[in-house]
Amino acid sequence: MTSTGLTKESPIIIVGAGVFGLSSAHHLSQAGYKNITVFDKQPYADNAYSTTDGADAASADFNKCMRMSYGEEIDYQRLAFDGIKTWNAWNDEIRSSKSEDLPRGLKPSDLIWNNCGFLRMSIDGQLSAIERATLANLTREGLRETQFVLGDPEDEKRAKSHLRKGEWEKKSDPFGRKRQGKDLVGVFDSTAGFVEASKACIWVMHLCRRNGVRFVLGEKDGQVATFIKDANDKTVGMRTKSGTEYHSKLLILAAGGWTPSLYPAVSSLLETTAGSVAYIQLPPKDQAPDLWDKFSPENFPVYAYGGWSKGHGIGGFPRTEDGIVKIGYRGFKYTNYEDVKDPITGQIHRISVPRTKYWPKPYDPSITKQAVAAIKEVVNEAMPELTAIGITGCRNCWYIDSLDNGFLIDRVPDDNGMLVCSGGSGHGFKFLPVLGREVVEIIEKPEAKNAYGKLWRWRTKEAGPKNGLEQGETGPRNWKKQVMATKEDWKFRETSRL
Ligand SMILES: Cc1cc2nc3c(=O)[nH]c(=O)nc-3n(C[C@H](O)[C@H](O)[C@H](O)COP(=O)(O)OP(=O)(O)OC[C@H]3O[C@@H](n4cnc5c(N)ncnc54)[C@H](O)[C@@H]3O)c2cc1C
Repeated sequence: MTSTGLTKESPIIIVGAGVFGLSSAHHLSQAGYKNITVFDKQPYADNAYSTTDGADAASADFNKCMRMSYGEEIDYQRLAFDGIKTWNAWNDEIRSSKSEDLPRGLKPSDLIWNNCGFLRMSIDGQLSAIERATLANLTREGLRETQFVLGDPEDEKRAKSHLRKGEWEKKSDPFGRKRQGKDLVGVFDSTAGFVEASKACIWVMHLCRRNGVRFVLGEKDGQVATFIKDANDKTVGMRTKSGTEYHSKLLILAAGGWTPSLYPAVSSLLETTAGSVAYIQLPPKDQAPDLWDKFSPENFPVYAYGGWSKGHGIGGFPRTEDGIVKIGYRGFKYTNYEDVKDPITGQIHRISVPRTKYWPKPYDPSITKQAVAAIKEVVNEAMPELTAIGITGCRNCWYIDSLDNGFLIDRVPDDNGMLVCSGGSGHGFKFLPVLGREVVEIIEKPEAKNAYGKLWRWRTKEAGPKNGLEQGETGPRNWKKQVMATKEDWKFRETSRL
């Protein structure tokens, strides 16, 4: 029994079946908790987390970057490295499964984690301070040989013997900068790559089910409408949109971008923002074999074009198995403030809430002109062979950012019936295999004797906002102040031939 009276039989409710909820459910069930129910308003059993079929959580996606490079933040670096062992084991388990034993949306040939490498390019001619800190921390952990500094003769020599034949030439300079006489500065990280996000969620939901976790999914039965409190204001359960009440000894709130609107008390620590994503669908393989080959994970790395959030703020991925090249822009992340009624007090708050393709009502989304301009600039400069195709699709992907970009995983002060498990801040996916292990630690040792419990504890604004959270509704990131791109904007004026 934990100090808060939680036993292995106690009812645990998890709100949200994204990375934070799934990983928590998985590890709690592995730790012997037997009465876990996960609720989600999205019908993931029907749409298999497919973004083209109605799924719109941050965790539902083609791909997410798997990186260990974390600058000064060595705890995240260690956790990411730790996760790789499980990502590899999951790949092996899926590969050796029979098709009929895998959940819908997964087949034995699927790799949910692809170690294609990550090129962290600097575009101002020098390694950034965060890059130097990353190298120092990887050196400290004995992992320096996994990193290859472009232009460093020793590293380049080592890369050629360490990587597959010809891989270094393609992945260290995928945009042909040397050939064009441009600077080529940066680091190739051979430990990194991407994870297939939606497929990874399907897999972990399957593991949870195998361990006895129940899932209640869908807009009516799975959507949590309000929380139930006892006389001491402690959370003791929740009520769904369909009106059914469920009781809990512990409720884990892992609702991603919807967390502050469900529980407004957390809105001074967490803010919902949107990153912009553009897709370029390659022509069918037989019509453009060279493009399919060039952008394949075998030949093309995950890349940051001058830093995820600096410079152009552009990062991208190799093509998917369906030939989709995804490019993300997070130079500027947007907020969407609306009136939100506190489900318990009835009080109205102005809070940033997700406005996805499917939620609250389906609509044809567009991303901002600012994002499209930044993406087109990089495509023009670095991937001109894609300009003839143009942008073919887009998505606003709703994050939940914390004050300081760190996660928030802690019991609510004065309410040990609720634990907020959120604040992914644009980098949470890679931790799917290990995040829940730390959640179990935090639950079982509320005094936070572990490093992650301290790192992710309930913080205050005074701890130093640095994520734009302090700008609020009047700030420049407000959605309503943006100009949205039209489909005409998706085309490139000067196109090169395929
Ligand atoms: C554009 C973009 C790029 C990213 N890139 C990376 C990357 O490269 N690498 C990386 O590691 N991470 C990346 N991330 C971050 C990562 O995706 C997130 O940290 C992670 O997916 C967050 O998971 P979550 O469970 O907190 O939230 P979500 O995935 O949003 O899940 C929350 C769930 O709660 C459910 N929910 C909400 N309200 C209710 C309710 N009332 N009742 C029931 N259910 C409810 C939702 O339906 C949803 O399924 C990126 C995120 C974005 C947006």
